[in-house]
Amino acid sequence: MKQDASPLSPSSLPLSALMPGLLASASPAPQTLELAYLRLYIDNHRLDRVLVPLMSLSGGLLLVLWVPWLAALAWVLTSITLTFTCLRLYDRCQREATISNVEQWVQRIGLAHGALIFNWSALGLWAWVPGDFANHLSIAVILLGVIAANTAMSSPHLRLFALDMVAPILILLVRPLIEGQSIYYMITGMALCFMLLMVHVGTQIHHNLARMVKLQADNQQLIHQLENMATTDALTGVYNRRYFMLAAEQELQRCRRYQHPMSLLMIDVDHFKSINDNGGHAAGDQVLRRLAEMLVGELRRSDMIGRLGGEEFALLLPETNLAMASLIAERIRSRVAAAHFGQQGQELQITLSLGLAEAGGEITSLQTLMERADKRMYRAKQLGRNRVVSHADS
Ligand code: GH3
Ligand code: MG
Ligand code: MG
Repeated sequence: MKQDASPLSPSSLPLSALMPGLLASASPAPQTLELAYLRLYIDNHRLDRVLVPLMSLSGGLLLVLWVPWLAALAWVLTSITLTFTCLRLYDRCQREATISNVEQWVQRIGLAHGALIFNWSALGLWAWVPGDFANHLSIAVILLGVIAANTAMSSPHLRLFALDMVAPILILLVRPLIEGQSIYYMITGMALCFMLLMVHVGTQIHHNLARMVKLQADNQQLIHQLENMATTDALTGVYNRRYFMLAAEQELQRCRRYQHPMSLLMIDVDHFKSINDNGGHAAGDQVLRRLAEMLVGELRRSDMIGRLGGEEFALLLPETNLAMASLIAERIRSRVAAAHFGQQGQELQITLSLGLAEAGGEITSLQTLMERADKRMYRAKQLGRNRVVSHADS
């Protein structure tokens, strides 16, 4: 059996040389990022369940100083209802949001949370007692609190952050201007500076989170691609030699422990070199791809296929004794021999030589099992190719 000896040690090469195009293709889709931002936004709001009702109650008690208690009560109840509407939406969103419906969820949450923030901000207008400085200051403090909370909690999602900021900012700025006294102008000036600072802080938090989220997504994608590259053969998509051997070793140990049968089939394309010589390397590659497809089509769920190198494949058949495996091998041989591998109407047929061995008895290691199957595969070659050899005395 030929070994796939690479002259280059992978560890001596940079990642980009080993996997050209890998890093470029690793960028996550915008919807993936949008979903991650939305989840962080929701995560930041998990304490709303306790804090918003408490803040609504204390806000309501303060409002009673300036508005009829029924109006204050209505405001408190609206705030609590909207909070629980948001919380229910967050729970559903965590369960149901996917990259394909994330846009809808952003809109729903934007509406619900926007309504809650509007309820808080609007008290700056309906609870306003013009000329009452204590009223002005109390409401300014409430609005500044809302703005600060939005900065801390809404910034993971830039669009929702912007939406949450509009109402409190407008009302906080406009009210002192309408009061029309110099002290109110000064308050507006200070509020403006504070808001600019908050918007700046919020966007900075967002940018840092965005970078972190993208890095995480990039890493996950890279790990997935690296796992794929470490286990599969690039040309045919079946397991590569290294991974096949690892997995086959495990399967052999499992079958030995439970004394279940297991067979191994070595497959080699006959006169493959002539296909390359006649049709070029690309034609040879195409044959290998099609052959791998056909072999995969013959597998059961528990079977495993690997490309051991060149035009050699191995099939591991758990729970299969030699007699059963012989039938499978014969079926593969005849189907491949009857198939057409030529492209664009070209006539091209191939045959296979197959060697079969069953684990058990003195065959206790993968190496011995493979050597045995390999020997029989070469015996099939000696006997004239296009055949299955499953016994030593063939
Ligand atoms: P035999 O019937 O004795 O097996 O003859 P063969 O021609 O199939 O065997 P040999 O070992 O002489 O040639 C195998 C050829 O497979 C030589 C090599 O260039 C070719 N080969 C190995 N890997 C690849 C590949 O990835 N793509 C292509 N197109 N050819 C490959
Ligand atoms: Mg060969
Ligand atoms: Mg060959």
